[in-house]
Amino acid sequence: MKLAVLTSGGDSAGMNAVVRAVVRAGILKGCETWIVREGYEGLVRGNVDADAPSAHNLATTLDVKVRDPSFINNLRFGDGSLLRDGTGDHPAGRTLKGRYIVRVGWDDVRGWFAEGGTLIGTARSQTFRTPEGRLTAAYNLIKEGIDALVVCGGDGSLTGADIFRAEWPTLVETLRSQDRITDEQVARHGHLKIVGLVGSIDNDMSLTDLTIGAPTALHRICEAIDNIHSTAISHSRAFVLEVMGRHCGWLSLMGGVSAGADFIFIPERPPKANPWEDEMCETIHRHRENGKRKTIVIVAEGAHDANLKPIRADYVKDVLTERLGLDTRVTTLGHIQRGGRPCAWDRIWPTLQGLDAVDALLEATPDTPSYMIGMRENRVYRVPLVEAVKMTKAVAEAIENQDFDKAMSLRDPEFRESLEGFFATSTLEKNPLLPPEKRIRVGIMHMGAPAGGMNAATRAAVRYCIRQGHKPLAISNGFRGLLDDSVHELSWLGVDNWTVRGGSELGTNRTLPDRDLGAVASKFQEHHIQALLMIGGFETFSSLLILEAGRKYYPAFHIPMVHIPATISNNVPMTEISLGSDTSLNALVDACDSIKQSASASRNRVFVVETQGGMCGYIATMGALAVGANIVYTPEIGINLDILREDVKLLKIRYGLDEKGKSEGRVVIRSEKASDIYTTEVITKIFKEEGGSLFDARLVSLGHTLQGGVPSPLDRAYGVRFALKSMAFIEKHHEQLRGKKFRERQASPESAAVITLQSSAIKWVPVIEMVEHGDIKNRRGKDPWWIGYKELVESLVARPQLL
Ligand code: ADP
Repeated sequence: MKLAVLTSGGDSAGMNAVVRAVVRAGILKGCETWIVREGYEGLVRGNVDADAPSAHNLATTLDVKVRDPSFINNLRFGDGSLLRDGTGDHPAGRTLKGRYIVRVGWDDVRGWFAEGGTLIGTARSQTFRTPEGRLTAAYNLIKEGIDALVVCGGDGSLTGADIFRAEWPTLVETLRSQDRITDEQVARHGHLKIVGLVGSIDNDMSLTDLTIGAPTALHRICEAIDNIHSTAISHSRAFVLEVMGRHCGWLSLMGGVSAGADFIFIPERPPKANPWEDEMCETIHRHRENGKRKTIVIVAEGAHDANLKPIRADYVKDVLTERLGLDTRVTTLGHIQRGGRPCAWDRIWPTLQGLDAVDALLEATPDTPSYMIGMRENRVYRVPLVEAVKMTKAVAEAIENQDFDKAMSLRDPEFRESLEGFFATSTLEKNPLLPPEKRIRVGIMHMGAPAGGMNAATRAAVRYCIRQGHKPLAISNGFRGLLDDSVHELSWLGVDNWTVRGGSELGTNRTLPDRDLGAVASKFQEHHIQALLMIGGFETFSSLLILEAGRKYYPAFHIPMVHIPATISNNVPMTEISLGSDTSLNALVDACDSIKQSASASRNRVFVVETQGGMCGYIATMGALAVGANIVYTPEIGINLDILREDVKLLKIRYGLDEKGKSEGRVVIRSEKASDIYTTEVITKIFKEEGGSLFDARLVSLGHTLQGGVPSPLDRAYGVRFALKSMAFIEKHHEQLRGKKFRERQASPESAAVITLQSSAIKWVPVIEMVEHGDIKNRRGKDPWWIGYKELVESLVARPQLL
């Protein structure tokens, strides 16, 4: 298969990771790999001989964005031969002038992870919108013998891809009738294999949870809001932020949920009240009356009222200034949202999606649909491109027809949940929603090491409690704190800034309740705790197990009890993610980017980076995928002399293949407990000794920095989601016990449960069921979903081929 990849439409972080993954997976699977520069425009312009005068006079109008102007720097595998790729038809030194469809090799895409935007260029192509333009594009592809295309772009680009796919047989027929291609070419190119990946910061494509680039844009937005917090509070100001999103309010919504806004305007759900100005002012006035010194309002670029009249940031500012007398400023985030280094998510998932795209193309037949590769709850997922395009158009149409309920129903369930979550956690109601008899006293506790998102989850639970009329009780410093009576009520305003804060606002402790279970039970009684929400890692899971077993003896534990997994190690059985792990991966990515940068000065250096994670290799493995590490050591697999010997050999071959003077810093990641004997220090020394004149080795221990400073937006958003689901769970199970006498209460085993994410769905698992899936001795799950990714890390540096 001859495979080409292009990026189109608006650029987004993660596009480079896609190109890298497609090129490398293509080469590994025996394909010839090409890139198309400048999106569909490059496809239409095609190749004219570089040395001939350019027929289209192109090179001056479009920037050559590739890093290496020769754009060919092939990897020689093991025996030194040029394998599969690299025909040498673009000899080094030759520029890309007039060439838009270019063959690329393995090393051309090296180190592309850390760069934002798209290095192969993108453009908006008017010509491709015309039938003549697409005819020329088809001709150019056939001329180069390319029969498979990966398109990474937004809904416009994927609509274009869908049209191109549908038209292909007619295009081929026309080209034949014009004698531009031969019968042989017609036979070979009867079917265009095409697959779409959604690169868009807006997250505006249906049937995928997250588009490539949207998480990075959300990082930029949250950073901006976090920074505005302090000045807003200092001056008691209001800020109106304009956020990107023409037809989709995802960025505004998630910015509002994760960074904590007072009011948001999104296209899918215009304010219900008429006039909306009254509703906004009333809400904000109530928050101010409650003591809030800052006000944040987020306006999506495409926001409008129920009559589709645009709502502009400047107008919102005028309303706040005139009606509430607030000192109000407008901040338009603009292109800042597009830019910057991709976050961990936008490195890992575009890579996995790129790999799946190549598989989808290899599996494609004229009878299978063309796919769009998307995401569903933490997993790569394929849907027919036609369906995704159709559904996306349907949302835009529903908005145009002012059918906002339909627009909301067509968005993913997560979007709808997040909107409910926003209202539940941001708006202070006039009166509690539940009648007094349904109100509960909810104890909230953090356990184990601090993890990003713990505070956001707690804030969401507290705000939800207050909205309903429940009493949120902070139990400081875990079970030890409970025994010391460190229990106090939390307020709506008191938790206001918690989303931004790392660490644990409640304080954590690792003491398990079985130290003195009877005393714990009596404290539950003393403080009238009617439900327990625990946020933490493996200790929390163990504690819940103890409390559940304690129900045999203590009626105080016959209450709903919930565990939200939060630990950077991500070692809680059965759940695919825990709060804090995304923050931690981002801390790892940040550290490794800086390390690699320092290595660009002293080129031939291997950095052996030690990560935390206990007996679980999640952070090490996913971190290795996110930074493009060459080797990863995990406790699950361990280290022995044979492995080390091979690794030294791998590094020697790899450095030996580098072009002189063009070596790069390489990263090896070692999980802290991968081996008692082959410590990070020992491994570094071995590499240093064996590297000789080829490479040097240095040790970097990331230690507690991996807990991260500011929690990542995704951890905050998941925190809110998990907390609200937990509260609904608590209310449901409390209802079953309501009205029963203290000693007669019999809580079901299901009412002591852990909230988990499994195969694309949130599931509640009773804690007693979790036990059989846990490796209790090693404090980790038994069959982690990510374990096979170590092999992926290795294949992306061609380990099997090199050794
Ligand atoms: P995005 O992909 O980010 O939504 P655009 O809507 O600008 O960005 O689309 C990018 C490119 O995709 C366009 O410049 C055009 O070349 C192509 N494209 C978009 N819509 C169509 C269409 N209906 N037919 C053909 N090509 C299209």
